[in-house]
Amino acid sequence: MTNNFNHNNRMNTPKRYTITAALPYTNGPIHIGHLAGVYVPADIYARYLRLTGNDVAFIGGSDEHGVPITIKAKNEGVTPQDVVDKYHAIIKKSFEDFGITYDNYSRTSAKIHHETASEFFKTLNDKGEFIEETSEQLYDAKANQFLADRFVVGTCPKCGNEESYGDQCENCGTSHNATDLINPKSAITGNVPTLKQTKHWFLPLDRYEAFLKEWILVGHKKDWKPNVYGQVKSWIDDGLRPRAVTRDLDWGIPVPAEGGEGKVLYVWFDAPIGYISSTKEWAAREGKDWEPYWKDKDTKMVHFIGKDNIVFHCIIFPAMLKAEGSYILPENVPANEFLNLEGNKLSTSKNWAVWLPEYLEDFPGQQDVLRYVLTANAPETKDNDFTWKDFQARNNNELVAIFGNFINRVVVLTNKYYDGFVPTPSDLLEIDQETLATLKAYPDVIASSIERYRFREAGQELMNLARLGNKYLADAEPWKVIKVDAERTKTIMYVALQIASALATLSEPFLPFTSTKLKNILLHANLTSEAEWNTIKTKEVLLPAGHKIGEAELLFSKVEDETIQKQLDKLTASKKANEAANKVVEPQKETITFDDFTKLDLRVGTILEAEKMPKAKKLLVLKVDTGIDVRTIVSGIAESFTAEEVVGKKVTVLVNLAPRALRGVESEGMILMTESEDGKLVFVNPDTQNVTNGLAIS
Ligand SMILES: [Zn+2]
Repeated sequence: MTNNFNHNNRMNTPKRYTITAALPYTNGPIHIGHLAGVYVPADIYARYLRLTGNDVAFIGGSDEHGVPITIKAKNEGVTPQDVVDKYHAIIKKSFEDFGITYDNYSRTSAKIHHETASEFFKTLNDKGEFIEETSEQLYDAKANQFLADRFVVGTCPKCGNEESYGDQCENCGTSHNATDLINPKSAITGNVPTLKQTKHWFLPLDRYEAFLKEWILVGHKKDWKPNVYGQVKSWIDDGLRPRAVTRDLDWGIPVPAEGGEGKVLYVWFDAPIGYISSTKEWAAREGKDWEPYWKDKDTKMVHFIGKDNIVFHCIIFPAMLKAEGSYILPENVPANEFLNLEGNKLSTSKNWAVWLPEYLEDFPGQQDVLRYVLTANAPETKDNDFTWKDFQARNNNELVAIFGNFINRVVVLTNKYYDGFVPTPSDLLEIDQETLATLKAYPDVIASSIERYRFREAGQELMNLARLGNKYLADAEPWKVIKVDAERTKTIMYVALQIASALATLSEPFLPFTSTKLKNILLHANLTSEAEWNTIKTKEVLLPAGHKIGEAELLFSKVEDETIQKQLDKLTASKKANEAANKVVEPQKETITFDDFTKLDLRVGTILEAEKMPKAKKLLVLKVDTGIDVRTIVSGIAESFTAEEVVGKKVTVLVNLAPRALRGVESEGMILMTESEDGKLVFVNPDTQNVTNGLAIS
């Protein structure tokens, strides 16, 4: 086997970086899980690389083809184009709002993408890289349509999940063919599909087994995340099979080959090519050449994705690139695990999520808080949980109490003591020298974490730098020293100002809005040379004596308990709505005969008296006028009603139930009840009071 890429020698200094972030699927807005898993880490990485002087193309776009969009369009009575136009705009705005600095954000319905994907398919087809095969596919005769991907649900052959989709099981992550499903059902009509012959193009993944083994299992054993490596290994160990790259659908990119009429490219074939077309779009706009970003072996390409996309980015897309022959492969695919919300899996359909547009309505201007908390909690090595309590604690105890407090003290005191001018220091004491030396180490400390895709650790190191500043001020106590030693105070404030200046630069990848604010407060723009990531390590002085800074401005504000409670209440409301919608209706009981029914003697009655059964939480002892007699009935309704409430109620009574003793009281019948959604009991009673006791119900 010949390799046109160089995977065993780690690239020392790449000439440029191509960074891609998973294309969000445009059938809904995006939520915190997407941000934590993919977009914040990708943005931190891209911003850091730009700050350290690298040539970066940070590429993304909307994934606008595939079956779920057509299903949504059908349900809403609009066209698929309407659906993608709506959500593309919402998603794009969320990215802008949260400071995700794409160099280009495109969409797969764009002309340039249709051309690029079409061309890619043709190249592979011409080279004979596909197998054309007429096979039997699931077909819904009632809907007059082949059933692929999400048009069909059934039992996952691997884990037994009964609601697996035709292309992928969301429970175990396995990707499969629709015909692999056990007991398949049409998602359109609910029909059991039949098999019908149709021709498709298959990418024979089995041909790439040796290549993938060598490239990933041997070549990236040490530098890829264990969760990614492990999933890839298990896929390869299971044996790879040909995968269809076309579908019988009308929404998507038409198959550019003979016999391709009425068929489109499989969404998972065209979507990753979207990275290439988005790069082309960017290059054309910027007057650059796109090809080195995809074809030069000195380019480092990194795909940021969630764990549900591992198979597509580590097996299928690389096999496509390899088949094409002129492309490089990713150096790393640092996929994250999933973020949960308050202990439950994030779910669009169950509305169990924090949607980005809603977050901004509730927390205007606080994008950085969410970025910070999601980074601190990023599901880098295992699934992780987002809780509102933790959000509040990280904001109040870290951003406000450490970072914000330190900056505020430095700026306020500099204005108070020196009218905003950086003072001239006198001799530096050991503590000052140590502090400044520690400060100079931070750019490398944070960089090392970022370059190993450990963004949680990197974010905590940034906070540690703020801690260093906070502790320095707390120990040096300039507000006390000023009363006895004016010269020493100048030195203390000078050192603290250097830390503040470094924070303004080093916080940019993590807290971009705060970084901008802080640079404005410190008037970085007026410096002859601004502290840059790498010069912080070498520059003697970041904020020189005599430089004037601006007024203090709060960077973060405390999040109160009520604010958090509101968010928790929102989630509780979602949960209740879900429970109501998903309440399982008990299956019908065995059939009975009419004679069986007439054996029941149901009568209208009235509760005359009621009292609580001593030492029994649930039981009320009732005296009921049944029209036949007044009798005692013990009823398990005390948790829903007080004794006083039920007196005078018209009720339905089963009078010929065999008497039985409950806690020593003989009960002669049963009151009919049902239960409302919130678990409260409800009387099943005649809906008019104009009926008399003893009337039979039949
Ligand atoms: Zn499964």
